[in-house]
Amino acid sequence: MEDHPGGFDLLVVGGGVIGLSVAWRAARRGLRTAVADPAPASGASHAAAGMLAPVSEVTYTEEPLLRLGLASLSRWPSFAAELAADGGLDVDYRADGTLDVAFGSDDLAALEELAVFAGGLGLPAEHLTGRECRRLEPMLAPSVRGGLLAGGDAWVDPRKVTAGLLTALERLGGVLARSRVTGLETSAGAVTGVRLACGTTLGAHRVVLAAGAWSGTVDGFPPEALPPVRPVKGQIVRLRSPAPLLRRCVRGVVHGSSVYLVPRGDGELVVGATQEEMGFDTRVTAGGLWELLRDARELVPGVTELELADVVAGLRPGTPDNLPLIGPTNVPGLFLATGHHRGGVLLAPLTAALCLGEADGDLSAICSPLRFQEHR
Ligand SMILES: Cc1cc2nc3c(=O)[nH]c(=O)nc-3n(C[C@H](O)[C@H](O)[C@H](O)COP(=O)(O)OP(=O)(O)OC[C@H]3O[C@@H](n4cnc5c(N)ncnc54)[C@H](O)[C@@H]3O)c2cc1C
Repeated sequence: MEDHPGGFDLLVVGGGVIGLSVAWRAARRGLRTAVADPAPASGASHAAAGMLAPVSEVTYTEEPLLRLGLASLSRWPSFAAELAADGGLDVDYRADGTLDVAFGSDDLAALEELAVFAGGLGLPAEHLTGRECRRLEPMLAPSVRGGLLAGGDAWVDPRKVTAGLLTALERLGGVLARSRVTGLETSAGAVTGVRLACGTTLGAHRVVLAAGAWSGTVDGFPPEALPPVRPVKGQIVRLRSPAPLLRRCVRGVVHGSSVYLVPRGDGELVVGATQEEMGFDTRVTAGGLWELLRDARELVPGVTELELADVVAGLRPGTPDNLPLIGPTNVPGLFLATGHHRGGVLLAPLTAALCLGEADGDLSAICSPLRFQEHR
């Protein structure tokens, strides 16, 4: 690895969608920036469906998360356009909304409540009959009884996002160290850099820990600064179709669990995702795959005709309160950007802005890592 006298202004531990977004925006601002990761873009960000869906993901107890999601969603159009310019890759940003469908009376009632809740917040959410749903998406099952169209929701292809971020970072002079971080270097209590498994030390005034589900287990960091992040396993399937089967994201509750289908412009259809508390297990199981395909077929019977392209399992970085941890820690110079759980792709633009001090102070307070550190 090249020598970097004077070190970096900002060094990011972890090259998933979060770490790479922070690093790209920092490099864009002219900061000397590095990312350390033995396998960038291979974690949860590789598995993710890419829904940017704060409205259809919302639950009544999660208004702070909704605020973060909406703030980040509004940044996505310019984020995607600037990334396309810097990274030379179109990330397949589409804003045709999510259609949430219901089969039974309970699910219909839940969607009606969600429509009222979203309407109360001034968010676009239109209640539809089964027939109206099928008019929008003709491939939907005849048994769909109604739905909710969250017209503001969007989606991207996360694999294109991370590929674009890696190129953009490199073009702007950012450094990618393909090695695991094995320790934090400090002097008089303040951060001076990190140690890498390859034996090198990288100097940095500011270190951002963005190691996804592994953020709580990174070696050689002060234990009190490590975040309470746990892995939440998600299995997800990619199918291939000669022509797109759907125009927009479709989701619903089948056999008691939520399933969604995300169409890509090239005919790929993503079916996700399981939610499992299995530690760091990333095996794809026959049962996981079977449940996803069974539930997807209930929503859109035609999926069984499609070619199976890819099945993976990723680890979402979950937190005790489902909110991310973004901002300074008790260790001077050490920042966190982690714990994005089900919404890391959605929250990437806002996370980068928060890390660089470019976002609203109220939003920053919601995500402060100190909410856990102060209790330790
Ligand atoms: C099946 C599935 C579907 C999802 N769908 C969506 C969706 O539709 N929309 C959405 O917004 N979100 C979705 N998510 C959530 C989203 O994927 C995550 O919130 C997001 O990818 C987290 O990004 P990250 O960069 O923090 O973590 P990751 O992408 O996991 O990256 C962490 C990186 O840290 C590196 N690392 C670990 N330890 C070290 C170390 N010691 N030194 C250096 N590097 C290290 C790893 O190699 C890895 O590359 C989904 C997740 C899953 C699993």
